[in-house]
Amino acid sequence: MSKVNGATLMARALKQQGVEYMFGIVGFPVGPIAQAAQDIGITYIGCRNEQSASYAAQAVGYLTGRPGVCLVVSGPGVVHGLAGLANAQQNCWPMILIGGASATHQNGMGAFQEERQVHIATPFCKFAHGVEHVHRIPFYVEMAVRYSIYGRPGACYLDMPDDIILGEVEEDQVHIAATVAEPPRMIAPQENIESALNALESAERPLVIIGKGMAWSRAEDEIRSFIERTQLPFLASPMGKGVMDDNHPLSVGAARSHALQEADVIFLMGARLNWIMHFGKPPRFNKNVRIIQLDIAPEAISQNVPTEVPLVGDGKAIVGQLNKALENRQWFYPKDTPWHAAIAEKSAANARQIQPMIDDNSAPTNYYRAFKDISEWLPDNAVIIGEGANTMDIGRTQMPNKSPRLRLDAGSYGTMGIGMGFVLAAALVHPDRPIVSVSGDAAIGFSGMEIETCCRYNLPVKIVVLNNGGIGSGAESLPEDRMTIPPRVMSIGSGYEKLMEAFGGKGWYVDDPKDLRKALDEAMAYPGPALVNVKLHHAAGRKPQQFGWHTS
Ligand code: ADP
Ligand code: MG
Repeated sequence: MSKVNGATLMARALKQQGVEYMFGIVGFPVGPIAQAAQDIGITYIGCRNEQSASYAAQAVGYLTGRPGVCLVVSGPGVVHGLAGLANAQQNCWPMILIGGASATHQNGMGAFQEERQVHIATPFCKFAHGVEHVHRIPFYVEMAVRYSIYGRPGACYLDMPDDIILGEVEEDQVHIAATVAEPPRMIAPQENIESALNALESAERPLVIIGKGMAWSRAEDEIRSFIERTQLPFLASPMGKGVMDDNHPLSVGAARSHALQEADVIFLMGARLNWIMHFGKPPRFNKNVRIIQLDIAPEAISQNVPTEVPLVGDGKAIVGQLNKALENRQWFYPKDTPWHAAIAEKSAANARQIQPMIDDNSAPTNYYRAFKDISEWLPDNAVIIGEGANTMDIGRTQMPNKSPRLRLDAGSYGTMGIGMGFVLAAALVHPDRPIVSVSGDAAIGFSGMEIETCCRYNLPVKIVVLNNGGIGSGAESLPEDRMTIPPRVMSIGSGYEKLMEAFGGKGWYVDDPKDLRKALDEAMAYPGPALVNVKLHHAAGRKPQQFGWHTS
């Protein structure tokens, strides 16, 4: 009988479970797992920091429906990987972190990089476990994959001690695990479906909010039918964008604050009334707002605002149920209501407000002028990654998404530094699409070394840095006494494009908006990784907002 070791068993089990991508950094004791994974046909991408690897793994999970794996060394590697676990858990995205660990027989002895890894991973996971027997590796891999994608998706952690990775068992002792099937799609009771439609029929100012849970559940066809059949106005959450085309006439994106404030019945679909949605509370929401809520997690129902009609189950299945029930109704939301008119008026007023900034050709440029060229340049099928403060917030409003799961950003956890990991993931999952990241200069700093990773694997990604020389805003000049530089301020006109050139890609520096479109076009035409560094006015900002970003 032949023997098999832990590393090979791990690679085999992952492959069997449909895991296609592994991101990580090798070192003690996980090198053999990375090699075995690559040998068996899992794409292995070596990153420069475990954080990026962990962000990449979860973006793969969201984009493909099967978790990506992040492989890290013991101790500090796991600690760095926690950043991604936390982000995945908050975003409800599936990933598996595999941490190497010191050998079990050295536990408690002060082993190299010894750490209580299962313990520290647990708060960020749906399932975290230390593998204690080589023959049970397929059992735990099946469990981690299943937990990561069934119910509300999330993160899982598997701890792999050195002696388990190198340990061997007879092939016939190996635990055989079934391949995890696609997540079951639970439906809602018919009476709740009818109640939801009754509540919508009774609304004067209805609004549908589409969140990234719907993108995850691949509900786009059902939602399009639902919106077109009911004619209900809708608002996409930041990563719910594209489930419905942002340019659809029923989108209220350009009058977001007004729509949230005035709606009397909100149908919340795969989205949470958390900080991104201002907790569903006044002054941002009507104090008597009635909520219909579709979510796969029953414990999410009524968070912050009591839900009138809960629809617990899978987004795609339940919107399908609603569409079926609508076949027995005549009702749709009329076109000529004061609600539609008010939203249209507010959208037009908002557009008028930003027009002067779009038209301003002075150098260095402002966000809106930069986004004018960027959005005209962006192909419809591009995956758009956004991070930074103003860069992300303004970018979300100025770069429309036509299709689902083509926007990745700082998400529910508001994490800066996700961008380059998401770029790697998108480039691998969608080799047929342009991958465009629009990042602030502070944001790219967190994970900028992954530019080398893009160059090494020759991923033709296009990175645009909107460079105002700081966090939020920069400075016109730096003080003589450098120790008094304001905390938010960074170097002025930093040459991020040279970072790209340093590793073999191509870069452009643009300090006048008249040159921006040409640089963008050249970057897109360039067959490899490219970076366009756009100098912004140090005080460029957002249009005046009615509310502070964090009002409750
Ligand atoms: P957004 O940031 O887009 O508002 P959130 O991450 O706050 O979205 O919320 C997404 C919600 O979607 C979560 O509460 C999650 O439980 C839910 N969800 C995840 N998968 C599904 C699914 N298949 N069907 C319905 N809801 C889902
Ligand atoms: Mg900045």
